[in-house]
Amino acid sequence: MRTLIFILLFYLTYRAVKSWILNNFSIEKNGSGKPPGQIDDIMVKDPYCEVYFPKRNGVHLRINGQDLYFCSSECKEKYLAEHGKS
Ligand SMILES: [Zn+2]
Repeated sequence: MRTLIFILLFYLTYRAVKSWILNNFSIEKNGSGKPPGQIDDIMVKDPYCEVYFPKRNGVHLRINGQDLYFCSSECKEKYLAEHGKS
């Protein structure tokens, strides 16, 4: 009887851990459609306000073949106003 309770507890713990892992996974997948296996949380520097922030939270801009990431679309627009030539 004791073994049965132990197995039940183990099973419930297993399910809780499993759903927790699945939740974390789906949050990562919801990012911005990046291919799996790519590291998402690299710190990058906003070239306009020079603040460091996680790359996945940044606003991407491709200019002159260079990939730039901004902390906000405001910074992106201000940077474009100064450097944009297109
Ligand atoms: Zn910024």
